[in-house]
Amino acid sequence: MPELPEVETIKRSLAQKITGLTIREVKIYLPKIIQITNPDEFQTGLKGKTFLNVNRRGKYLLFYLSAEYVLVVHLKMTGQLIYSPANAPVAKHTHAFFNLSNEHRLSFIDLRQFGRLYLVPLEELENMPGLKKLGFDPLSENFFPDIMAQELSHRRTRLKPLLLDQSFIAGIGNIYADEILYRAYLHPLRPANTLKAQETAWLFKAIQEVLQEGIAYRGTTIRDYVDGEGRPGNYQNKLKVHGRAGQACERCGQLITRLRLQGRSAYICPYCQKL
Ligand SMILES: [Zn+2]
Repeated sequence: MPELPEVETIKRSLAQKITGLTIREVKIYLPKIIQITNPDEFQTGLKGKTFLNVNRRGKYLLFYLSAEYVLVVHLKMTGQLIYSPANAPVAKHTHAFFNLSNEHRLSFIDLRQFGRLYLVPLEELENMPGLKKLGFDPLSENFFPDIMAQELSHRRTRLKPLLLDQSFIAGIGNIYADEILYRAYLHPLRPANTLKAQETAWLFKAIQEVLQEGIAYRGTTIRDYVDGEGRPGNYQNKLKVHGRAGQACERCGQLITRLRLQGRSAYICPYCQKL
């Protein structure tokens, strides 16, 4: 699943390309991907609108449009948004595309079909289901170590599920949660309220560093992720623990192990991340 660094990379790659362009035509092949409005309203609502700005909140992409509308996209497991020439062949698993005013097209492609598109009036954006419940954006200017420390102090939730909880902190998924906890020398099963001040500081720093590095390397491509122009990321080569079971920890030489945690995998160094 694309996580914050991937969604941020898509945002940046598309912002350069589509800002100022107008949607001339909307084609929908798979109506279920359109939520809140019905597909006809979505189609007529988007036609003639101009892309003003692209933003991100957690794993959501927000395309601010003219006439005070916002196109909201969640890519979920395997969704892709690809900008290409309008005369390029329509890729397999394309469920919708928008023809733009410059002979180019923005396509929504999704193998697993879990991704969703929403067209909402700007004034209703904050109340949109999903967006409304999002917690802190870890890279926002309003996210500080003391706020996080206070939030952790009254939660008994274990660290990895807490990092994955989008209503606590928005944008982190399985890959970056493993990398963050490794960097902070913290075990994924550690209850949040048992962290000492120093450990909370490490965790905060690790969240910032790992996500910023992920963005600097333009995201992690393990299977499907590509940016808005179809280019894969490079952070998969920088991962320290995720997907590296049986390989040596760079810090101590112990072998990385894979745990089962609530039906998902967690990768740790058993020496660096003691419970
Ligand atoms: Zn280690």
